[in-house]
Amino acid sequence: MSTKYIFVTGGVTSSLGKGIISASLAKLLQARGYSVTIQKLDPYINVDPGTLNPYEHGECFVTDDGAETDLDLGHYERFLNTPTSQANNVTTGKVYQTVINKERKGDYLGKTVQVIPHITDEIKRSITRLGNLGTYDVVITEIGGTVGDIESLPYIEAVRQFRYEQGPGNSLVIHLTLIPYLSAAGELKTKPTQHSVKTLQSQGIQPDILVCRSEYHLSEGQKKKIALFCNINDDSVIESLDAETIYDVPLMMQEQKLDTVVLNKLNLERRDEPDLTTWNEFLKRYKNPKRTVRIALVGKYVELPDAYKSIQEGLVHAGVANEAAIDVVSIHSEELNDENVHTALEGMQGIIVAPGFGRRGIEGKISAIRYAREQRIPFFGICLGMQCSVIEFARNVLHLEGANSSEMDENTPHPVIDMMEEQKAIKNLGGTMRLGAYTCEIKDETLAHGVYGRTEISERHRHRYEFNNAYLEQFDSAGMKGTGINPETGLVEIVEIPDHPFFFGVQFHPEYRSTVANPHPAFVNFIGAVVKEQEAVVVE
Ligand code: GLN
Repeated sequence: MSTKYIFVTGGVTSSLGKGIISASLAKLLQARGYSVTIQKLDPYINVDPGTLNPYEHGECFVTDDGAETDLDLGHYERFLNTPTSQANNVTTGKVYQTVINKERKGDYLGKTVQVIPHITDEIKRSITRLGNLGTYDVVITEIGGTVGDIESLPYIEAVRQFRYEQGPGNSLVIHLTLIPYLSAAGELKTKPTQHSVKTLQSQGIQPDILVCRSEYHLSEGQKKKIALFCNINDDSVIESLDAETIYDVPLMMQEQKLDTVVLNKLNLERRDEPDLTTWNEFLKRYKNPKRTVRIALVGKYVELPDAYKSIQEGLVHAGVANEAAIDVVSIHSEELNDENVHTALEGMQGIIVAPGFGRRGIEGKISAIRYAREQRIPFFGICLGMQCSVIEFARNVLHLEGANSSEMDENTPHPVIDMMEEQKAIKNLGGTMRLGAYTCEIKDETLAHGVYGRTEISERHRHRYEFNNAYLEQFDSAGMKGTGINPETGLVEIVEIPDHPFFFGVQFHPEYRSTVANPHPAFVNFIGAVVKEQEAVVVE
């Protein structure tokens, strides 16, 4: 079977949830036995989002093969439970970089290099790269931005050409729009959707399906009206109401028959109804928790929930696995210090210290970790969070005054976290960290071994600094152990304090690997430890 292509565009406003709609449709097709992948084309000029501040664009997601990508790829993986790769996220910057490199090599043989055809050709190559692997029945391509934006024009044009070249029945376009409710008029308004579809039509694309985000149900009459004015079949106007959780969206789309409409239009067999047993089981447990636990998430980008998206979702998955609702309390690390930490963290049953870069907020993170260590509260440190736990231990247990990471203080007398050798000569910031999946060996009879139940794991990385092995023995004899080691480099990947209910720091990012079908064991065991402590308190 040759690969079919689905494009998802957005109209009227941004933030309508194209990523969740794409992931939900993919889930439904996957649950019918089709192999599906999703890619995102982002119209900005950064070559990847790795250099973007989380305030700009939320979390940067990392794939096994070391791509720094848009956070929507995290949704794709969490929904589908299949890994994405470099090819699943392409930006305008990357497209231009490829074209310009070819031009410098002389590949265009003296031709004038132009947006059409050279940029659009390169976009089309990005679209087919996944399809050409031969492993996917369906490739869903989400086009970032909003139709009508200047920067998305080359993408829309590439999709137009692509559809022409592929012929009918091999691809379709789903346009996601907003139907606003005007409370003064007491009405849902379809006009912005009509305009947005007209814009798309004027660029040569007739959408096949409209998914309409709305706060209220659309009447049959309203759907018919939208269908008539936008040239869409009646069964292809789908409403998408606000959901209680993103994990409800596949079911909402199934109820509206989005999957069958798609299969019909692509001339694909319907096969059996989607098998959503695991998904439904997950939702049932999610909505019927037996207990609630309060977890502090200490970070410096806490104003923006998307900045720690994968951690938030990892907690959701781990909560479900433990039949616990998780009340995540975001705490700004810049506002914490040794004096106020007791009040600020009072009542927290578990503490996560988040990843991050730079000096800002670091001392607050260290105070939070000291509190967790001394008060014996389950602690989970991720990347910078793990590094801060090493600094805290160095200062307060080993009494190494002024201990720090050389990222925060170049002249520290005790660089317990130091830059990796291979990083020292690198000047560029983009794509130069230690990125992607690396193997880690786990020592027997450790917390790490209990968590993973294995001696060899693979986890994704995104950092420049490392535990400084010159201090390893001192840490070890004072009670902080390095229990996960990279077998090739000897770098410490996991630290733990055995004499503590749960004190676990990881140099890598387990959150990128947690999915609905496979909640990450580090998150599951952390929440498990929190629940155990909570039950112990109740019994007392
Ligand atoms: N800033 C730290 C480093 O580069 C930690 C990075 C992170 O938390 N992702 O090593």
